[in-house]
Amino acid sequence: MFLAQEIIRKKRNGLALTSAEINFFVNGITTQGVSEGQIAAFGMAVYFNDMNMDERIALTTAMRDSGTVLNWQSLGLDGPVIDKHSTGGVGDVTSLMLGPMIAACGGYVPMISGRGLGHTGGTLDKFDAIVGYQTEPSSELFRKVVKEVGVAIIGQTGDLVPADKRFYAIRDNTATVESIPLITASILSKKLACSLDALVMDVKVGSGAFMPTYEASDELARSIAAVANGAGTKTTALLTDMNQVLASCAGNALEVKEAVDFLTGTYRHPRLYAVTMGLCAELLQLAGLAQTEADARAKLNQVLDNGRAAEIFGKMVAGLGGPVDFVENYSQYLPQSPIIRPVFADSPGYAASMDTRELGLAVVTLGGGRRKPGDTLDYSVGLSQVCALGAKIDSSTPLAMIHAQSEAAFEQAQQAVKQAIHIGETAPEKSPEIYAYIRAADL
Ligand code: URA
Repeated sequence: MFLAQEIIRKKRNGLALTSAEINFFVNGITTQGVSEGQIAAFGMAVYFNDMNMDERIALTTAMRDSGTVLNWQSLGLDGPVIDKHSTGGVGDVTSLMLGPMIAACGGYVPMISGRGLGHTGGTLDKFDAIVGYQTEPSSELFRKVVKEVGVAIIGQTGDLVPADKRFYAIRDNTATVESIPLITASILSKKLACSLDALVMDVKVGSGAFMPTYEASDELARSIAAVANGAGTKTTALLTDMNQVLASCAGNALEVKEAVDFLTGTYRHPRLYAVTMGLCAELLQLAGLAQTEADARAKLNQVLDNGRAAEIFGKMVAGLGGPVDFVENYSQYLPQSPIIRPVFADSPGYAASMDTRELGLAVVTLGGGRRKPGDTLDYSVGLSQVCALGAKIDSSTPLAMIHAQSEAAFEQAQQAVKQAIHIGETAPEKSPEIYAYIRAADL
């Protein structure tokens, strides 16, 4: 038997906690055995004194086990259960393609995703743009779609990692979100509760990333890869670029449209393709569904080109209550803004840099994200045809198209876009889409 205040004191004094102490404290978070004040003090002690790898693994697994841990055994699946998670970005619609592409290659993807946070978009909000799609299905329906279609993308179910729900809410208002061990445990506990055989983690770098510097993103990526592998799930973390909007658009319905166009081959944005293929190819190799990078890429291109991945996306949408002909007729089902108009730069030149975070906030301000918890979204709004860095900009080539609900909203977004995309006299050097792969062997 331990005392919560003695565990906090030990961490406050810079000592390492044992697994038993961490288990006791996390159990207290779940059962209300420790107070809000104690959780806040614990979070702050970890913030200042860090945790070693053993402590991080113990915290992550204790949180994972605080609620339901999914069990796939009774489904008799004939392939590995695998998934991807991203630290969040703007125009980051990769999950919508990755899930069906991986399923088409023999994996099973039970993806539990989140809503938009801050300036970033949320996969769940994108699916809510599809009328009828149930983002909170029963556990039976979730399992049925995973088994029959190979992928189901849904929201967090009731009893998954209750310790994180309480701890995150307290961290959010006691200035302890930005702690690498706490972020690692928070993200991974939710993913590992899905009982995955393999995981790829997309840690964003740049002006639209959650972490403020390359070094901080790298540190988080290494922590996540080490803890996940240490907890028994084969994991690679990729550091990918978020110095510009990843897709050609940002906004819920717009991104769904882009995902379908990608899957059907109507349009594949080159940076989005590079990141999606990088994540998918790594995942197939981790899970043993491909032997080499070239083998993985060939399989993925095949399921894109033969329509299998698009077909699986359609089956997932229908299986979760959406229209059965969504892939074929998505324009009939996705909402459209009354105002769709270009925004031009004040002077010609090249798109030199982007404050991607500000562009994400412009989408939030248009109504595509939440100003406060519980806000209802306007799924139709956002930005499309967002210029890529290095693009030549002039009076006939816009920075982006704005999709807005009113003239006032258009005006505000126009100012925000002009301020966020900086025009230079020369094109900047092209930055890579993927900076690094952090694999178990590299740790
Ligand atoms: N996302 C999470 O789920 N948890 C964190 O701590 C930070 C981002």
